[in-house]
Amino acid sequence: MNIHRYYDVDIVNGPGTRCTLFVAGCEHQCRGCYNQSTWRLDSGVPFTLALEEQLIADLNDRRIPRQGLSLSGGDPLHPHNVPHIRRLVKRVRRECPGKDIWLWTGYTMAELSADQRAVVAEIDVLIDGRFIEAERDARLLWRGSRNQTIWYLRQPQGEHTEQHTAQRHADQGDPQCPGGESAMQHQ
Ligand code: SF4
Repeated sequence: MNIHRYYDVDIVNGPGTRCTLFVAGCEHQCRGCYNQSTWRLDSGVPFTLALEEQLIADLNDRRIPRQGLSLSGGDPLHPHNVPHIRRLVKRVRRECPGKDIWLWTGYTMAELSADQRAVVAEIDVLIDGRFIEAERDARLLWRGSRNQTIWYLRQPQGEHTEQHTAQRHADQGDPQCPGGESAMQHQ
């Protein structure tokens, strides 16, 4: 699996302070995608064991407490990425107690294969669906277009109030993720 960016401290892509990984590979080709450079599976750089170890250590670093891990791209549920992401999320579950895992995919929940569902079984929140330009709404949080759904699989939705999150975005200004608004697209 290749990745494009890893942020060890991120307050844009999901609630709280997080670690965020943008993977390579996406087959959805949404019109208006800000992340086209991530579409090819061979774009970016390899996700190494050393980086995986760093990610686990960052999540457990008490000096900068992280709420959890965000997985985006590209598409973490691209079939090529699924075995790698499954291994990673299982490891985070096992070695990083108390950390939540958010994942953005262009597939809808109904489209997921058994292998993709095995990943979803390990995470806390799934944001699904392609980015549809005609459905775009800049007021949405964690999503780029209205067709996308936030599935709170383990946590009550009330823990992530939109007002609280909107204020953080306003405070921070520009997102620090690649493509700026891209983090809110298929996401
Ligand atoms: S918006 Fe997301 S799902 Fe759609 S093509 Fe771009 S990276 Fe893929």
